[in-house]
Amino acid sequence: MTKRDYYEILNVSRDASETEIKKAYRQLAIKFHPDKNPDNKEAEDKFKEASEAYEVLRDPEKRRVYDQFGHDGLKGQGFRGFQGFEDIFSSFGDIFSDFFGGGRPATGADLRLDLTIDFTEAAFGTHKEVEINKHVECKTCRGSGCKPGTSPRACSTCRGTGQVIRTQGFFSMSSTCPQCRGAGQIIADPCKSCRGEGRVPERKKVSVSIPAGVDEGSRLRLRGEGEAGPIGAQPGDLYVFLHVEAHEFFHRDGYDIHARMPISFSQAALGAEIEVPLLDGKSKTISIPAGTQSGENHRIPGAGIPHVRGHGRGDQILHFIVETPRKLTKRQKELFQELAEIDGKPIKEILKGFFQKLAP
Ligand SMILES: [Zn+2]
Ligand SMILES: [Zn+2]
Repeated sequence: MTKRDYYEILNVSRDASETEIKKAYRQLAIKFHPDKNPDNKEAEDKFKEASEAYEVLRDPEKRRVYDQFGHDGLKGQGFRGFQGFEDIFSSFGDIFSDFFGGGRPATGADLRLDLTIDFTEAAFGTHKEVEINKHVECKTCRGSGCKPGTSPRACSTCRGTGQVIRTQGFFSMSSTCPQCRGAGQIIADPCKSCRGEGRVPERKKVSVSIPAGVDEGSRLRLRGEGEAGPIGAQPGDLYVFLHVEAHEFFHRDGYDIHARMPISFSQAALGAEIEVPLLDGKSKTISIPAGTQSGENHRIPGAGIPHVRGHGRGDQILHFIVETPRKLTKRQKELFQELAEIDGKPIKEILKGFFQKLAP
């Protein structure tokens, strides 16, 4: 069987750069990786073929020989082609590390913080300083875990990859290196401040910017404000879960705010100009038309909650409640009685008529 051309296998041009070759191999290797294609002979062959091509083309000397003399030239140099999975994973380990969970842990743990703000803070946005307990990067060793002036050495068990690979037949299983616990490095001389951890516990101030328009249950993500990662890793994120206190006057529905607006019997009947409170603490004068009924409402456009994304605000809606007076002065009583007579509905007769209707 004739061997395919290495450039053809990786689907790159003959003048492809090192980066292009690496990228091309990585794509094929991930596609045909034996862990992803169990019991698939064809995928396995493609994986081997691509690995061999990459082994040659990544090496300037082997590539030069191949370009000049082809497959025979390499044979003359003692090149034997595909050498088995273990070799591939240890020599090209970096190519797989981010795809197969190898190497270092990617980030520190995420943290959650619950924060209660009041209704107007949620509406208009605010800025809060909070204190949280978390691990931060050790200042003495700048997170390296090494005593200043010293450096870590590569772990000999995993040859610095952080992963050990066991091959059974054609299948390879990778697992975290027991010696260095995945770090790929051994710290011979640990930093005294953090005992080689690279991070120390601290009570830390975090400032949280809360945008206008957030609501109960809104969640903010502060990148990098979570736990410092183990050595060589990025810190996690801090998630702030917002809780919003109720307002004494307004309640929220989406971006609109609603309020009950008590008005007197005479205001409702005659109409009036009344001053109503707004969310921002100011007030506005509105007109109630004569003959306003309980349950009717008045809308003030743009006086609601600002949209959390984008522009504009919801509306403020006032729901009128006509209040029936509970305690009347002597004079008020006289006036209501007079009013009743003008209405032609004397109070006692209404009651009498009402009870007669109820009788069998
Ligand atoms: Zn340290
Ligand atoms: Zn190791």
